Amino acid sequence: MESTANNPHMKVVVIGAGLGGCACALALKNQGFEVVVYEKLRQFKRLGDSLGLGENALKLLRRWGGQQLYDTLTKIGNQAELMQIRRWQDGKILAQQPLMDMAGYIGHRGDYHEVFLQAVRDAGIEILMNHEIVAFDEDEPSVTLADGQEVTADVVIGADGIKSRARELVLGFKDHPRSSGYSCFRAYFPGSHLKEDPLCKDLTDHNCVNIWIGDDTHVVQNTLRGGEEFNWILTRKISHEKDLEITESWFQEGDMNEVFKCIGGLDERIVAAIKKTPNCLDWKICYRDPLPTWVSKSHKVVLLGDSCHPHLPTSAQGASQAAESSAVLAICLKLAGRDNVALATRTYEKLRFARTRQSQTNGEDLRDRWHSALKSVNEGIEIDPESIKMRNRPLYAFDAEADTMQRWNTVSSQVAEELKTGNISPLFETRATATVA
Ligand SMILES: Cc1cc2nc3c(=O)[nH]c(=O)nc-3n(C[C@H](O)[C@H](O)[C@H](O)COP(=O)(O)OP(=O)(O)OC[C@H]3O[C@@H](n4cnc5c(N)ncnc54)[C@H](O)[C@@H]3O)c2cc1C
Repeated sequence: MESTANNPHMKVVVIGAGLGGCACALALKNQGFEVVVYEKLRQFKRLGDSLGLGENALKLLRRWGGQQLYDTLTKIGNQAELMQIRRWQDGKILAQQPLMDMAGYIGHRGDYHEVFLQAVRDAGIEILMNHEIVAFDEDEPSVTLADGQEVTADVVIGADGIKSRARELVLGFKDHPRSSGYSCFRAYFPGSHLKEDPLCKDLTDHNCVNIWIGDDTHVVQNTLRGGEEFNWILTRKISHEKDLEITESWFQEGDMNEVFKCIGGLDERIVAAIKKTPNCLDWKICYRDPLPTWVSKSHKVVLLGDSCHPHLPTSAQGASQAAESSAVLAICLKLAGRDNVALATRTYEKLRFARTRQSQTNGEDLRDRWHSALKSVNEGIEIDPESIKMRNRPLYAFDAEADTMQRWNTVSSQVAEELKTGNISPLFETRATATVA
C-alpha cells in the first residue's frame, strides 16, 4: 500500500461483513488504508427480504467500485416506476409516487449482500469468515478472536449489527432493545405460489410495489423479477403484553394463523396472496434509543451501521446510511491522519449523528402518518395525497463525501477543543448516559 503524509500505513480492522462492514471496507480501501474484515459466520445465506438502496448510497458505491458495481446493484432492485398507496379495505389508490421517492431500489437483501461481498473481494480486501471477535483492548487497540488470536490495528470498527458487542464496549454497559410498540410479519417466496389465483394476477404479473394503509397497521407488497419473487411485510401496533417481549431476531418463525387475525377487512387481492404464503417471519421491530456516543473512551474503537444507527423498515435507509457513515469515517481518518485517530473518530460521530437521526425519524413519521390517515377519512375528511407520501427524496441528493470535505474544518476544530479539555460532548442526552461509569 502506498503511504502518504496523512496515511502512513494505517491499518483498520472491520468487525462484521454485513452490508455496513462491506461498504466500510470499500470506503477505507478507496482512501488507501489497509483493511481486514472479520466475520463470525462460516458462510452467508440469502437472508432477509426487501431492502432499499438509495441514490445517496449508490453514488458512493459507484465511486468505490465503478460503474459496473452501480449497474449490477440497480438491476437487483424493483424496476417499477411508480408505487401506490392504497386504502386498506378496498385497495383504492390514495396516492401514487415514483418508487425512487420511497426506498430507491428495493431488492432482496441477500442479492445486494452477495454483490457487496464480491466488490470487497474484487478490491483485494480480505474477508475472514468464521472469525468471531470475542474481546477488545480498546487502548492498543486490538481484538481477540474466538481461537485466542489477538490482532492489533490503528482503528477498530464495529460494524457488527444490532446485537453489537463493540457497542457494549463503547457504551460501557449492555444496552437493551426496547419495543417500538410495533411488530412485523414478513414473507418472501416464489411468485409461482400465486400464479393460479386470478385475484393475485394484478400483483404478480409485473414488478410493482403497493402499500395498504389501515388503522394502526399497514402492508407493503413488493413483486420482483417480473413476478418470480413476491414479498409482503405486515406492520401492526402491538396490543398484547406478551408481544412487547423483545426477541431480537431475524429468524423467528411467524404463525400464519396470527397473520390471518391481522388482515380482517383488507383488500381481497393482497389477502389472497397472504393466504397462499408458505411461511413467514415474526419480527418484533428492534429499536434502540439514540446513543450518547459511537466511539470508545480511547477513541480507537468506533461503531458503524446498525450497531449505532438502526432504522425502522419505514425509513428504508438502514443500508444506505451505513454506506454514508462508511464514506464519512474513511475521509475523517484520511484527513486527520494516523497520529490523530481521536480527531477523526470524534469528528465522524459529530458529522453523522444529526443526519442519521433525520433518516431514522423520517421512518417514524411516515409510519405515524400512514397509521392515522384513515381515522380522518372515517371522520369524513378527504385525504390529501401529499400527507401520506414518502418523503425520502431529499435524502438522496446528499453527497456524504462532499459534505464531509465541506464541514471538516469547522467540526474538527470544535472537536480538537473538546479533546484538549477532555470534555467530549455527548451526541444525545439519555437516561442511560447517567449510568455510565
Ligand atoms: C439476517 C438479517 C436479515 C436482514 N433483513 C433485512 C431486510 O429484509 N430488510 C432490511 O431493510 N434490512 C434487513 N436487515 C438489516 C440490514 O441488513 C441492515 O440494516 C444494513 O444492511 C446495515 O447492516 P450492518 O452491516 O450494520 O449490520 P448487519 O447486516 O447486521 O451485519 C453485521 C455483521 O456482523 C457480524 N458479526 C456480529 N458480531 C460479530 C463478531 N463478534 N465478530 C465477527 N462478526 C460479527 C454478523 O454476523 C453480520 O454479518 C437484516 C439484517 C440481518 C442480520
